[in-house]
Parts: sequence; structure tokens; C-alpha cells
Amino acid sequence: MTTAIVTDERYLIHTDPTHVERAERLLSIQRALDTSGVRAMVQQLAPRPATQDELLAVHTTDHVDTINRYAVRGGGYIDTDTYMVEGTLEAAYLAAGGAITAVAAVLQGTAPNAFAFVRPPGHHATPDRAMGFCLFNNIAVAARAALQQFGLARVAIVDYDVHHGNGTQDIFYGDGQVLFCSTHAAPYYPGTGRVDEIGTGDGAGATLNVPMPYGVGDVGYQQVFQQVIIPALHRFQPQLILVSAGYDAHWSDPIGPMVVSVQGFTSMTKMLADAAGELCDGRIVLVLEGGYNLEAVGASALASLQVLLGQTPAPGEMGRITAPEPELTRLIETLQQQHPLLRGAAEA
Ligand SMILES: [Zn+2]
Repeated sequence: MTTAIVTDERYLIHTDPTHVERAERLLSIQRALDTSGVRAMVQQLAPRPATQDELLAVHTTDHVDTINRYAVRGGGYIDTDTYMVEGTLEAAYLAAGGAITAVAAVLQGTAPNAFAFVRPPGHHATPDRAMGFCLFNNIAVAARAALQQFGLARVAIVDYDVHHGNGTQDIFYGDGQVLFCSTHAAPYYPGTGRVDEIGTGDGAGATLNVPMPYGVGDVGYQQVFQQVIIPALHRFQPQLILVSAGYDAHWSDPIGPMVVSVQGFTSMTKMLADAAGELCDGRIVLVLEGGYNLEAVGASALASLQVLLGQTPAPGEMGRITAPEPELTRLIETLQQQHPLLRGAAEA
């Protein structure tokens, strides 16, 4: 039994050569899997399309209808940065369904862990609208399936994409069964993800945001993961860890303002995989989100997959930034003192 990946040529049909979120991103990852020889070490699963009911478990009927309607017209721009083309609809249904395929493999025990290399990305899609290159919220659809179809009671989603996963947050904001943790640049698109956004009602304390100043790299992310994210996971005791694996915090990213290296992503993924080992029999599923430097997204996604395989990725050729990083001590202390899931954790 080995790590599963989910990918499909139909994810490449959704593309706009003038857009940063284009098919070449996935081709770059596939090339990295092939040239490294890692593709031969994993089991490749074909995605199935998500069903209407699976989409409607996180989205409104209006939203799903809107996406279907755009498809009938042959696509177009839904907002200034979110496009559809001929064939996008199929890719979008397969992206949400592909995330479920990966989760199902892990929960059914046919894979110890998995990485869903899907497009279009999902974490900005809210219950009722597409935005930020995202149509359906793939990871949210998969988390809901884990609860509803597999009977889990607690799922954690960790989002290390450089943007706040506002859609995922919105979907589970009042839901205590899903812990949503996000590290992101702030102030930055989409503008949400403040420290005091912690969830509401049954979900109070099950949203954890770490908004960070520009220029944070491997050192800062490591601190935040060690002192905030991992302790929160231990407090929450998830039965499955899902990761919104975006690589746009890489230093070379054309839109992200952070300076993480491939090794930085390796280290974050390793901490999450280790936490899954301690908390939930190693059950962890990564779902691709952003990452717009083609070389960096290929190398970073490959390194994360190698972590899932239990390998130690080679340092790679892209290098790392050694300039001093912004001080995060105060942000971390604030979270440790104020967040319901972390209060008292420093002493524990
Ligand atoms: Zn992003």
C-alpha cells in the first residue's frame, strides 16, 4: 500500500494562456513527478465527478446553477480574475470529485495518505460564489464527504496557501466538526482572515487564522507551525487532516509576497504528516491550491509528495532566502493567549 495521487488530463482543459492559473502549472508538477521517478512509486487514481448533492452540501443551489449556466454559454469571466472556458465545467466537477477520491482512498484504507493534483483550485469559493480563480471549494466538498459519507466527527483543514482560504472559512464558520487553520499574508487578497475571526456558534474556536506580514519565510512559518498550528491540531484531535496545499508563498512566486523555499514547504508538510501520524493513523490528504511560478510549484508539490512517501526530499536547486524575516513573536503570543483552542496550550 502506497501513497495515492489523483490527477487527470481533463484538468488541463481548463486554461487561459494569459492567466497565472493555467494548465502549465499542473504540467510542471506532472513533469516533476516523471523526471524524479516518483510517479512510479505512487498509485495513481482517476477522479470521479462530484455529484450535485456533494456540491450542494457546501454550496447554494444558486451558485451551482450559476456555474452550470456559464458552462452552457461556453464560459467567460465570472469576476475580474475567475474564468471558465469550454470544458471547465467537467474539470471543476472532477476537481471536487478528485478531492473526494483521494479522501475516500485514505478513509477506506487503500492508501495511507494522498495528494490530489486538481484544477481549478477551490479555497476561495464561498457557499454562494466563485472568486479568486476558484469555482467549487474542492477541499470543503471533500471534508463534508468525510463527515457525511464516512461518518467522521472531526476533520481539520490546514491551509498554507499564501492567500486566506475565505471560502473554506465561510463554509465551516459555524461548524464545530471542522477545524480550519490558515496561514496567509495580510493585508492581502481576499482581505479576510483576521486573528479575531475564530468561528461562531457550534464553530466558535474552530477557525484559526494566522495573518502574517509580507516577507515571512522558512523561519517564520516553522515557528507558526510549531507553536500555533500543530498545538491546535493536538487540541482538536482530528480523525483526518486535509491540507489546502498552495505553493504561492514561495519566494519566486509572481503574486505572493512571502519568501518560503521548497525546503520550507517540505518542513511544513512534514510537521503536518507527523501530526497525522500521532493523531489519526497518518491519515492526511493534500489538495492543490495556488502556486504560480511553474518551477517552484513543480518542485514544491513534488517535495510534499515525497514527504507523504516517507522520503527526505533533496534540497533542490531553487535555493532559499536568508534575509532577516519579520518578527512574529507578538502575533504568536496573541494567538496563544486569545484563541480558545490555544489558551493554556503553551503550559501544557
Ligand atoms: Zn493562493
